[in-house]
Amino acid sequence: MNKLHIVLKDGSKVPTNTLIWTAGVKGTSDAADFGLEAARGQRLYANEYMQAKGYEDKDIYIVGDLVHYEENGDGRPTPQIVQAAEQTAHTAAANIVAKVKNTEKHEFKSNYQGFMVSIGSKWGVANLMDKVHMAGFMAIVMKHIVNLKYFFDMRSGYYMFQYMMHEFFHIKNDRNVTRGHSSRYGNVLWSVPLRVFYGSMWLIESSKKVVGNGHYLNPTSWFGDGSWFTDKVVFPFPWLQEQVTTGASAAGAHAAEATTAATGAAGGATDAAAATATQATHFGFSYAFGENPMPVFEKMPHWFSKIMEVMMPNQDVALFMQKFMTFVEIGIALALIFGLFTWLASAATIGLTIVFCLSGMFYWVNIWFIFVAFALMNGSGRALGLDRWVIPWIQRTVGKWWYGTPRSIYGKK
Ligand SMILES: Cc1cc2nc3c(=O)[nH]c(=O)nc-3n(C[C@H](O)[C@H](O)[C@H](O)COP(=O)(O)OP(=O)(O)OC[C@H]3O[C@@H](n4cnc5c(N)ncnc54)[C@H](O)[C@@H]3O)c2cc1C
Repeated sequence: MNKLHIVLKDGSKVPTNTLIWTAGVKGTSDAADFGLEAARGQRLYANEYMQAKGYEDKDIYIVGDLVHYEENGDGRPTPQIVQAAEQTAHTAAANIVAKVKNTEKHEFKSNYQGFMVSIGSKWGVANLMDKVHMAGFMAIVMKHIVNLKYFFDMRSGYYMFQYMMHEFFHIKNDRNVTRGHSSRYGNVLWSVPLRVFYGSMWLIESSKKVVGNGHYLNPTSWFGDGSWFTDKVVFPFPWLQEQVTTGASAAGAHAAEATTAATGAAGGATDAAAATATQATHFGFSYAFGENPMPVFEKMPHWFSKIMEVMMPNQDVALFMQKFMTFVEIGIALALIFGLFTWLASAATIGLTIVFCLSGMFYWVNIWFIFVAFALMNGSGRALGLDRWVIPWIQRTVGKWWYGTPRSIYGKK
């Protein structure tokens, strides 16, 4: 039998050696020092305008958990919940403005849209406007929606982001709404080989666009035939290819001999194209020898073609874009290899892959790009990569620049 026990109000005893009491909310001891009239739990009496009782002429207002205001005169003060805190604050703010402008005062009128209690991190109950009752999973989902709305009302995308990162992706011991599926931790070191491989793949593919049919070890042979740096548009978009045809015809009018030669070459190309077109394409996720891989889209969807026509209206823009895109791809490749901004670089490759697919320039066999990119968004740049130092530095610097340096200004007692 334990020698120590706690005694409840009804006299019953609960034996224990350790007592940790976490229930109940008490006003801060600083509030007690104000000398204002206080109720239970050091809550301060306020009138319907949230003015401190007895000091109505001194412009002292009380808000939040600290308020003791009996709205219905039934001895029950405003509940110590977020909605009451916000609404009492609104009343006080409106009355400060009214005082300054010498207009009519605003009376506190509660409007509680519901009550929510979270029990642990995975379970809760919610009662919305006395109509909808929820328990368990849905109540917790509702809690997250309400919390995110709170940060949204504060116009803080930063806090919304931090909240989501913490609650859904970083929280430990499976303590979240997805039962830990979204916050499972692993050693990102294992994804480093994949990161370097994927970056190298982008580097090789983008380098081909520079080197063309030239030789990698001979820079003077670069930028020639087969490269994206010639004055030949590589995008197979009809409106750009039509311009090529029209341009060729005009040139043909001025140089008959050249046209004859070109026609011969074009005839050969057409035959080859026809032969390819008749060859059936095969759906699959890996290249099988001898098969013709199937493109994700045979031709651009109409809506995408309209967008691209605006973005790349003519050959000049297309020629600039194909060079620019090559540099972007090289940049992404190097970022992946060196683990710099890995999340962004991986996300960018997903975007590029989707654009290539929609442009009719991408095959099903390479669709793994997207899934690899998702896998690398696991912070793989933090192991053997520059993100290990760069990202914390950016977070610190931007955080200080945007929010300043947090510092306690109380609690000296
Ligand atoms: C565990 C827990 C769970 C809760 N769950 C819910 C819920 O699910 N739904 C709900 O609606 N409500 C909930 N509440 C209640 C809700 O958090 C409060 O009602 C609300 O935060 C009150 O807001 P407030 O601004 O009055 O006070 P607080 O949010 O407590 O803010 C007071 C601030 O003043 C600061 N401060 C104190 N003394 C000083 C000083 N001397 N100088 C400078 N600053 C000082 C404190 O650090 C604090 O930041 C919960 C509360 C707790 C403790």
